[in-house]
Amino acid sequence: MKLATGTTVIANGTLLDGNGGPPVRDAALIVRDGRIAYAGPHRGVPSVEPDAARIDARGGTIMPGLVEAHFHPTYFNVAALEDLDIKYPVEYVTLLAAANCKLALECGYTSARSGGSLFNIDVWLKKAIESDVCPGPRLSASGREICGVGGLMDWNPDFRKIGMEGLVLLVNGPDEARSAVRKLVKDGVEWVKTYPTGDAAAPDTNDHHTLCMTFEEMHAVVQTAHNHKMKVTGHCRATEGIKNALRAGYDAIEHGTFIDDEGLELLLKRDVPCVPALYFELASVERGKEFKLSQRVIDGHKETLEGGAESARRILQTGGRLGMGGDYGFGWNPHGDYARELTFFVKYVGLSPLEVLTCATRTGAEIMGRADEFGTLEEGKLADVLVVDGDVLADISALEDRSRFIAVMQGGVVKAGLVK
Ligand SMILES: [Zn+2]
Repeated sequence: MKLATGTTVIANGTLLDGNGGPPVRDAALIVRDGRIAYAGPHRGVPSVEPDAARIDARGGTIMPGLVEAHFHPTYFNVAALEDLDIKYPVEYVTLLAAANCKLALECGYTSARSGGSLFNIDVWLKKAIESDVCPGPRLSASGREICGVGGLMDWNPDFRKIGMEGLVLLVNGPDEARSAVRKLVKDGVEWVKTYPTGDAAAPDTNDHHTLCMTFEEMHAVVQTAHNHKMKVTGHCRATEGIKNALRAGYDAIEHGTFIDDEGLELLLKRDVPCVPALYFELASVERGKEFKLSQRVIDGHKETLEGGAESARRILQTGGRLGMGGDYGFGWNPHGDYARELTFFVKYVGLSPLEVLTCATRTGAEIMGRADEFGTLEEGKLADVLVVDGDVLADISALEDRSRFIAVMQGGVVKAGLVK
């Protein structure tokens, strides 16, 4: 991705650097050749060239670009899980995924970690975005997801003669798990996404269902992935499934819904980050009827919502790390609504806006393994910056309103916002 050339001064705003420290009022940020040259109080600004570009933050907020830590670019706002792999051909899903990436960038998300993709679409989107072929967040790719036969993502009975080949690699036993990971190596993914447990969305394997994958399969995935320098994460809701994943050596946990004391201890011991993705559950409860979800499924989402909120609070309070990602791409939580996750964590889960913003920037970059490049506004890092007309700490929902974005900057280049 090309970096900007020249100097830009962003001034007249409150600086949130992403590290969680107190905001700096009347701050300035200087970008030189795509990287941050200064971030701090306006009175300390070094002198710049007279022809430097200037962006007036209008008394608003200057903060790091957001990181969507559980992004499904190929989920095309489906009304039912079953539609994911059968409704459109791969060619069309690729176009929809490219549009979702453009939208995410316009929403202030300058980076994103894929939580699973149809085929290798996210791998190639990542290459296309890095080569400036199309706009989007800097991506970490996952490619196809891995699930045990008969597990959460294997929902079509055999008589239908429809597998889930586009979305998942179905495995039976550790040998098949190993060969699935080896396939992903060749495809070029960074994060191996697995399905150790069930979900309220699928009544046959509900959110307390632990054995969508066995411990042996999960362990084989981790060993093989780590041998190839890939990381492993998994959809972990059920108590035992979370612990199995942590014991197997997972590098991150998605959801962590019903984590118990022992699971929390395992998580904290290795400082494994968790991405709860919870607004999805609220949206499923509030809008489920509209999309013909059964009462049983809606009740399951309600239980997941409450359990997940409690677990997320405990993880953060005990010193664990949370990433902010939302599983967007279903009819009731469509792409573009990403920042609703952040408002939800303030209003429903009870975290402070500053805590949520740190999770959504620095922790997101840490999860992507790129915290030395972006995620905070510090000298030398890439100028991935969001300038918002509004006090984001006073009202975090300002991040849901793109009409208030003065600039969305990636490597110092303004990619979206009012000044573009
Ligand atoms: Zn997901």
